[in-house]
Amino acid sequence: MKTKEVIDLYDKYVMPTYKQTPVVLVKGKGIKVWDIEGREYLDFFPGWAVSGLGHCHPRVVNAIKDQCKKMIHIPNNYYNNLQARLAGVISESSFGGKVFFCNSGAEANEAAIKLARIYGQGKRFEIITMEKSFHGRTLATVAATGQDKIKKGFSPLPSGFRHVRFNDFQAVKDAIGPQTVAIMLEPIQGEGGINVASTDYLSKVRKLCDQKDILLIFDEIQTGMGRTGAMFGYQHYGIIPDMMTLAKTLGGGVPIGAMVAARKIADTLKPGSHASTFGGNPLVCSASLAAFKAIEKEGLLDNARNMGKYMFDQLNELKKRHSMIKEVRGMGLMIGVELNREGARVVEKCLKRKLLINCTQGNVLRFMPPITVTKKNIDKAMKILNEVLTIETGG
Ligand SMILES: *Cc1c(COP(=O)(O)O)cnc(C)c1O
Repeated sequence: MKTKEVIDLYDKYVMPTYKQTPVVLVKGKGIKVWDIEGREYLDFFPGWAVSGLGHCHPRVVNAIKDQCKKMIHIPNNYYNNLQARLAGVISESSFGGKVFFCNSGAEANEAAIKLARIYGQGKRFEIITMEKSFHGRTLATVAATGQDKIKKGFSPLPSGFRHVRFNDFQAVKDAIGPQTVAIMLEPIQGEGGINVASTDYLSKVRKLCDQKDILLIFDEIQTGMGRTGAMFGYQHYGIIPDMMTLAKTLGGGVPIGAMVAARKIADTLKPGSHASTFGGNPLVCSASLAAFKAIEKEGLLDNARNMGKYMFDQLNELKKRHSMIKEVRGMGLMIGVELNREGARVVEKCLKRKLLINCTQGNVLRFMPPITVTKKNIDKAMKILNEVLTIETGG
């Protein structure tokens, strides 16, 4: 098949819910991907970090290969040793809570929202979330998301959500009422433009939650699994949330989501109160266990930190040279470059030079390379970006 034939099939048979780049990807290895005509690309935005360990990480591939010969699905009314082991690994590498497994980020957030509602016992139900946040595309997570463009046309949405300015402690404090049961936020907003929460802000929010018996929920779907140079984003802040949601890199590429709740609230959801048919099946759990193992055995947290710093420095060098760069921000390998203009053309020109990146909020270039990225990869990407920015400014 050729690119055009695939696009024609999409036009005929696939719902047009995505804005798509006219590239048909068929193969990936590490930071490289190939299209159906055999062209090679450098992937600095592997599926919103789903392939955050690089495409087809050998440990993940082998785990899936082994497991699919044994058992692919175990219904959750039986015990599944891989789910048990994975829950242990997630719990021991975070704050010692218990885990609910599902298949995506939105579902993980739904689970957190449902736990909070049960915790509120019908008296408290309101969840405060942040402007510019992104929590998913199901109705409740759309309601939780603080971006109007994502809600448009879908009302009535589930009620009980309130949005306040991110990184503004007074705003969240003022929004708390007698019905508030939880505050939900991303420690670094991804879709919102790579906005990093300050330590002061999060420690104050944590204290406030403690004082008022409000649950603090961190959506770590994008920031989790080494992205920021720590296993989870909250670990940079010296506080712990009451709940944390994971997906994206969690499965090393396969669809898995998880909601982790602190031990003291983890038994709030009782048998029959929540479920997911596919949730935590042995196939995806084996992949996720391999992902954790890769991070540990290959020193990927150190790599994310070191390469993140290297890339940050390189981008700041570019900032000196190109006035169209307003700011470079982020943490580890979750990096945003704010431009003084729309970024779509830069993304397009990078694509022409076989570099895949993303742009969010119109003018924030987003880089989230696999946490296995090397200096050589970064140098190549920066060379392309420099070239593109030079052309863009007519230099
Ligand atoms: C991607 C993402 C989600 C939604 O995850 P899906 O798997 O697409 O449902 C939620 N929150 C954040 C922060 C995300 O990055």
